[in-house]
Amino acid sequence: MKDCLFCKIAAGEIPAAKVYEDDELLAFKDIAPKAPVHLLIIPKKHLASLAEAAPEDAAWLGRIQVLARRLAEEQGIADGGFRVVANSGADSGQEVAHLHYHLLGGAKLGDIC
Ligand code: 5GP
Ligand code: ZN
Repeated sequence: MKDCLFCKIAAGEIPAAKVYEDDELLAFKDIAPKAPVHLLIIPKKHLASLAEAAPEDAAWLGRIQVLARRLAEEQGIADGGFRVVANSGADSGQEVAHLHYHLLGGAKLGDIC
């Protein structure tokens, strides 16, 4: 989608520290990490948030969960514990209107969520 930051990252128009990429999904380091490991996992397809997910999106949404587990292992945070968060909409504090999952770990995380 035009003027979407994460669509531009997915298209390679804006650089990002990518850690995983396939036809449907992309994972890259958050630019302002809130934990020792802080990745963002996005679908290349533009959805503003989880509020726009439809039944036909179930396959790649499921793949995101499996990818989060795999990346947690690769990043060395699987054993210690990690968190996966998708903010959706204004009350959640979502800042970038392209669906993304935060993968956080590597330290004791705060109490919210
Ligand atoms: P939200 O608040 O929407 O759930 O999270 C947006 C996240 O995107 C934030 O953690 C923020 O640091 C990250 N972010 C914003 N702009 C960029 C960028 O240009 N590159 C990368 N890698 N992360 C970004
Ligand atoms: Zn987008």
